[in-house]
Amino acid sequence: MQSTTTIELSRSAIETNLDFIRELMGESVTIMSVVKSNAYGHGIEELVPMIEDCGIDHFAVFSADEALRVKESLKNHHVIMITGYIPDDALEWVIENEIEFYISDSVRAEKVVPLAGKLNKKAIIHIDLETGMNRTGLNFNDLEKTVEIINENRHQFRIKGVCTHFAGAESISNYVRIKQQIGHFHQLVDYLKKLKIEPEIKHTACSAAAVTYPETRMDMVRIGIMQYGFWPSKETFIHYIHDKTNKRDPLKRVLRWKSEVMDVKKVRQGEFIGYGNFFQAYRDMKIAIIPVGYHDGYSRSLSNQGKVLINNERISIIGMVNMNMIIANVSKLPGVKIGDEVVMIGNQGKYQLTVASFSELSKLVNYELLTRLQQDINRIKTK
Ligand SMILES: *Cc1c(COP(=O)(O)O)cnc(C)c1O
Repeated sequence: MQSTTTIELSRSAIETNLDFIRELMGESVTIMSVVKSNAYGHGIEELVPMIEDCGIDHFAVFSADEALRVKESLKNHHVIMITGYIPDDALEWVIENEIEFYISDSVRAEKVVPLAGKLNKKAIIHIDLETGMNRTGLNFNDLEKTVEIINENRHQFRIKGVCTHFAGAESISNYVRIKQQIGHFHQLVDYLKKLKIEPEIKHTACSAAAVTYPETRMDMVRIGIMQYGFWPSKETFIHYIHDKTNKRDPLKRVLRWKSEVMDVKKVRQGEFIGYGNFFQAYRDMKIAIIPVGYHDGYSRSLSNQGKVLINNERISIIGMVNMNMIIANVSKLPGVKIGDEVVMIGNQGKYQLTVASFSELSKLVNYELLTRLQQDINRIKTK
C-alpha cells in the first residue's frame, strides 16, 4: 500500500557521487561506505544494494543491528564494519559472521577472547585510538591493557585496522586540533609497532577530512554524507572548489521526498488556520492539506516557515506542522487539485528545494534532517 509520502532514490546520482569520490581519493584508497542511521535516512534496504551495484564492497555501520540489516541487504559477501555499539548478546554473532568491529575499550577485548575461542574463529578488529576527540577510542592506559590482552591471545584476533576519528574536520576553526590529532595518531601507531601490533590498514578520514586533509586518507576513507550528495559543510565545498576552473558542484542529491495534495479548501479572511492562533488568514485564501508531518521527519520548526513545491511553484507552509499534516497557502495556484504532486525535498519544474536550504530554515544540519526521515516511508529507486 502506498504511504502518505515517498522517497525516491536516484541510481545515477549515487553512481556519480561514488565515481567522483573514487577519483578524488585515488586508486590506492579503499572507499568504506558509511550507511549508519538507516543510510542517513535514505533506507538501508533500498540504498545498500544500489551502492553495491556501483562496485563498493566495504560498508560501515554504528551498531550490530544495523550490521545485520546491511548483511541481509547485500547480494554478495562484503566487508561490514561496526564502529560503535555491540550488545553482549550480539558479539558472538558478529564474530561468527566475520563482521569487523572497533575495539574502543579493553572490556570488549576481554569479552572477545572466550567467544572467539569457542567459535574457533578470529575476531576481526580495528583498534580505535583516542587522539583528541575525547569520545570513544582507547586512551593510553586502556591501550596498554588492550595490547596485553591481544598479545596474550594472538590466535583469537585478526588485527585488521588501526583508526581514529577527528573532532570536526568540516570547520577550519578546528584546524589546530585536527593537525594535533593526526600527529598523535602516528605516534600511537609507532608505539603499537614497538609492541608488535602491526595492523593491516590505517584509516582516519570521514568525508570532511578526506577532502580537506589529504594526508588523512591513508589506506581507507570512511565516507558518509558525500556519497548521498552533500558536502559536510560549505567550507569543505569551498576548499574543494577554490582552485578548480569548473565551479559546478560535482555531487548530486540522491534523495527526493514527495507527497500529494490530500485536500483543497477556501478560508475567509480573519479565520485562524490549524491549531491555535498560529496563523490567521490575512485575506480570503485557498489552502492545501498535505499528509506529511513531524512523524515523518518534517520538523515542527518549519511551522509558518517551510516551503514545498506544488504545480512548479514555491509554496509556503502556514500554521503549525502537525503530527501527520501540514497546510500550504496555494492561493496563487488556480488549477491546484487533490492528487497534485508536492515536493518537500528535491526538484519540481524549474525549482529545487535542497535539504541544505530546508535545514537552514529548520536549524538542523543536513545530517540531522536526513536521519530523521522515518523508516516507514516508502522508498523507490529511480533513474
Ligand atoms: C559517521 C562516521 C563517518 C562518516 O562521516 P561523514 O562526515 O558522513 O563522512 C566516518 N567515521 C566514523 C567513525 C563515523 O562515525
